[in-house]
Amino acid sequence: MNLLGGAENLKNLINSCCVNSKVHLSALYNALKPGTKVEWHDFVWEKLNYPKHSFIVWLAIQNKLLTQDRLHKKGIIQSNQCYLCEGTVEENRDHLFFDCKFSNCVWNGIMEWLKFKWRSADWHMLTNWYISRMRGKGNKQKIKRLALTATIYNIWRERNARIFKKESRSVEQLIKIIKLDIWTISLNSSLPDEACEWLLSME
Ligand SMILES: [Zn+2]
Repeated sequence: MNLLGGAENLKNLINSCCVNSKVHLSALYNALKPGTKVEWHDFVWEKLNYPKHSFIVWLAIQNKLLTQDRLHKKGIIQSNQCYLCEGTVEENRDHLFFDCKFSNCVWNGIMEWLKFKWRSADWHMLTNWYISRMRGKGNKQKIKRLALTATIYNIWRERNARIFKKESRSVEQLIKIIKLDIWTISLNSSLPDEACEWLLSME
């Protein structure tokens, strides 16, 4: 498995901080520093997460992923169209996660799998709900936090695969990949057996 989104995004981020082909370290620092989203720090950099997941989610939370709306504004690309729903909708952070009908179906599939009673596909409502309700140390909550970070990462990866490699997966295929990530991380972690059994009992 390669870094895809991570490496590509980092490269673009570094390029966007270049002036006369020299990297402006202060601009790069500003692009990567935690900013005011301190409450997200522990959530995103939780030990359980893959670092590549944490990195993408950290940028998404701060709206620093190089989504097409940002590239369009900088004049790097001439048009903006979401590659996931292939409609006429423009891509920006909030659309990509999870307003887009493709990512909405993926996220709903994951929420249904984990038996979330509360559902939303609105980025701000969802992230606020996570911060206020999903902070606990409980193992199920840890898995549910993992579900959000794994889903954001895999949606970003899917978007990049469509743009840069002309490859695409269906909603069902992406849900399977995310579940596999969550299983793999959980089963290789220090989570107690009962938490892993709970996860494996989900259809
Ligand atoms: Zn879309």
